[in-house]
Amino acid sequence: MAKKDYYEVLGVNRDASEDEIKKAYRKLAMKHHPDRNPDNPKAEEHFKEAKEAYEVLSDAQQRVSYDRYGHAGEPGMGPGFGAGAHEFDFGDIFGDIFGGGRGGGRSNVHRGADLRYNLEITLEQAARGTETKIRVPAMVDCDTCHGSGAKPGTSPTTCNTCGGQGQVRMQQGFFSIQQACPRCRGSGKLIASPCSSCHGAGRIKQHKTLSVKIPPGVDSDDSIRLSGEGEHGVNGGPPGDLYVAIHIKQHAVFQRDHNDLHCEMPVSFAVAALGGEIEIPTLDGSARIKIPPETQSGKTFRLRGKGIKGVRSPTYGDLHCHFVVETPVNLTERQKELLREFESINEKDSAHHNPRAKSWMDKVKEFFG
Ligand SMILES: [Zn+2]
Ligand SMILES: [Zn+2]
Repeated sequence: MAKKDYYEVLGVNRDASEDEIKKAYRKLAMKHHPDRNPDNPKAEEHFKEAKEAYEVLSDAQQRVSYDRYGHAGEPGMGPGFGAGAHEFDFGDIFGDIFGGGRGGGRSNVHRGADLRYNLEITLEQAARGTETKIRVPAMVDCDTCHGSGAKPGTSPTTCNTCGGQGQVRMQQGFFSIQQACPRCRGSGKLIASPCSSCHGAGRIKQHKTLSVKIPPGVDSDDSIRLSGEGEHGVNGGPPGDLYVAIHIKQHAVFQRDHNDLHCEMPVSFAVAALGGEIEIPTLDGSARIKIPPETQSGKTFRLRGKGIKGVRSPTYGDLHCHFVVETPVNLTERQKELLREFESINEKDSAHHNPRAKSWMDKVKEFFG
């Protein structure tokens, strides 16, 4: 099933303010929160949908990425990028949704931090899209204790202060407040003899290899979100996201400006004067350009559609070739002789052959009176 547009899910315009997005989400969350709809299984789906949309659109960085790439910009959703089977966090209806932020009892449950990975790719890869593998730090289950954190042969026991809940209720006036259990620090478990490899954490730092799909048309400063591939959460909190920031290497021939490409095209003095045809490179091969006679240095030739198709652009940009007349160097005696002869004829009617030099001289004369 195609995923619904996040803005549609929340029922807001694409230019909605942070506040409008928050309000729209609160309204939906109120309506669909599973606690309020115990007999309606669809409510949970609606709630998750709204929460996911809100999480993306309320995060400036994620929103920009979503605006650029839509769901396609969330490789975390695609095959091979498992977001991790972490439990869905409905949040506390009175804390998360209405109080703004996780306070009180949930303070020991934290979402993992977002990470950034700088990825350098070539212009060709950016234009065509590519798939690449990156190695990122990751916390994995400890081999020695298989994730339990307890020394092999022993096992963690349930914390009897909180009964394994990781949270305790405290009475404060009229209110009952939930707090992270002070004994087990919110984990719900006690480890008498910690595993020596991971010091009781159950996880160790390693590296993992991830596949990143780069959509065709990406540009420098774009970033791709791999959801759930950031730092792991604390005490069952969801993991953060990994942002792959794109940087495009300098190209030997082309400079990129959004979806257009620019290149310099040196041409000999004779071809510039007499006209001719030259072959120029394009990103996907080459093209021939007809140089009309009397072409001046600085002229630009535009090849339509030979640029780049941006991620959200329906069409290809153009290739602009900037024409530069090259003054010949390392001349032989014979070449010099011909040029001298050429110049002696040229001089006889230089105003006709070099109108620009003539008009420049006229201005200079006028200026100095
Ligand atoms: Zn261990
Ligand atoms: Zn406890």
